[in-house]
Order: sequence, then C-alpha cells, then structure tokens
Amino acid sequence: MMAKVLYSQGETKGSRVQEDFIAGEPVPIAGTNIAVLRVLGNNAGPMTGPGTNSYIVGGDRVAVVDPGPADPSHIKRLLEIIDGRPVEAVLVTHTHGDHSPGAALLLRHIDAQVVGLPAPLGSGQDPSFKPTRQYHDGESIHCGDFDIRLLHTPGHVSNHLCFLLQGDGVLFTGDHILEGTTPVILPPDGNMRDYLHSLQRLKSEPLRYLAPAHGRVMNHPFQEIEKLLRHRMRREAKIKRVLTDSFAAGALSTEALNRRVYDDVPEHLLPWAMKTLQAHLIKLKEDGEALETGAGWIRGGSQDL
Ligand SMILES: [Zn+2]
Repeated sequence: MMAKVLYSQGETKGSRVQEDFIAGEPVPIAGTNIAVLRVLGNNAGPMTGPGTNSYIVGGDRVAVVDPGPADPSHIKRLLEIIDGRPVEAVLVTHTHGDHSPGAALLLRHIDAQVVGLPAPLGSGQDPSFKPTRQYHDGESIHCGDFDIRLLHTPGHVSNHLCFLLQGDGVLFTGDHILEGTTPVILPPDGNMRDYLHSLQRLKSEPLRYLAPAHGRVMNHPFQEIEKLLRHRMRREAKIKRVLTDSFAAGALSTEALNRRVYDDVPEHLLPWAMKTLQAHLIKLKEDGEALETGAGWIRGGSQDL
C-alpha cells in the first residue's frame, strides 16, 4: 500500500540528509530524561521521503512507536536495539501501510499491549492491525518509568493518534506533522476541518519536540504548528482567489482547479495534491465559500465578487 505522504524527490538528497537518514541507525533525541531513539526504516521513496521513523522510548522498559511496514529486516533491527528489554507497549499512530503492519511482525517476538485505533471500515488501510484495547483521547499509558498520553488527532485520516511522552514533551506526530513537507489530507476519511482543529489543540500541550514519522525531529514545536496552519490558510485563500478570478469564465473542473492552485507542485505529485484540494473544497463548500455545480466549482458567497 502506498504511503500517504507528499514529498518532492529532491528532499531526500544532499549530504546532511545522508548523515541523518541511515536506515537502521538509532539517532537519539538530545536532552530528554527518558531516552528516545529514532530508527529509520528501509522504505525511502517519493511518497515516504527518507522512509518511516520508528521510535524506541525508554531505558529498562521500552515502548515502540510506529513499527513501520511489514519489513522483517526493520523489525529485526528494532529487536536488536531493544536487546531483550521488556516492551510495555507498541503504539501506532494510524493504519497506513508504512506505519502499522510491522506491529504484527514485532508481536511474534515480544509480548506487549498494542495501542492504536483500528483501520476505518472500507478505508483500504491495514486490516491486520489489532489493538489490545482502545484508549480514549487524553488517557495515559503507563510504561514503567514513563507515561505516554494519547491524543486523538483526526485529519490526515480519521483514526490518527499522536502520543505525548509526559515530562519530556516529546510528541510523536505520525503523519499529522512532518518535517520537510506537509501531510496529505485524504477525504472522505481524512478531513480538513478536523485537521486544522487537531493542529490547534496541540498548541495547549507542553511540547518541546515534534518527532514525526517522516523526517527529522523538530525543536520548535509551536513555530512548526503555526507554519502548518499558515500554509493551509494560504492554500485555502489561493483556492478562493482562483475561483474568484475565473468566475466570469465559468465553473472550473476539480482537475483544472488543481493545476492552478498547485502550480508550484511537480507534475508527478499533482494526484496527491488533488486529495488535499478535495479536502479543502469539502470545507469551503460547507462554509458556503465554494459551490459545486454540474460543470465544476464556482466561488460561493458575494464578498469577493
Ligand atoms: Zn499516513
């Protein structure tokens, strides 16, 4: 299954990237009381960027965040790094194929509770993922020396969770916030209004680091969240502008609108951009800012006409 992450290919190149992105090489987050290791998987690609990050959290007892795709060599590497320590929990941010299928493989070797939300029905996501029990938003998972709080962050997909390492303020963001690119919102399961709300709510959390499923750990959480919110608002404003500018010429098909709104995106990524465009359009339609006609989209409301 393809990962649902929008990357331009150039972002995986360059010497700094080479140092930070060696598959299987544990990279610690500096300055935390509880050890956190980022371990990159072997699944680099245009849709996953450098690949999926798994995280191993803890000392004598550990938790694993996002075991990744069903890749035996990556699971073997995680087990080598865990080195026989008890695993308290396997935490899964969501059920895309580059995040959750590794859990079933890992559980052949360890005994741990599995935390996450199952794949939404009919979504085509990973059906093998079976959480031990469902936690609710805001609940903490006790993992020996540390606690991890679960935050429901729908938007990219409806069953997306972020996990907050209490005390150290490390937020495992899955595909909710990525480094070096912006997440794709995948309607109808994904939802732009939910996504924006899920970003806003994080601003009241005691965050120090964002640990994404793709890319490097980020040290300025609130700046990153604001940057993403601004990016989404700018894209929404551009959609409204394009619809306003083309009003006299008639309705625009979603494809034509996509080309104009994403004229800054490489051709091969336009199909993915279209997913996020559709998510924006659903929101704009609900807000009365865009109208869907038989011929395509036109600007709603009268304020800009
Ligand atoms: Zn995803």
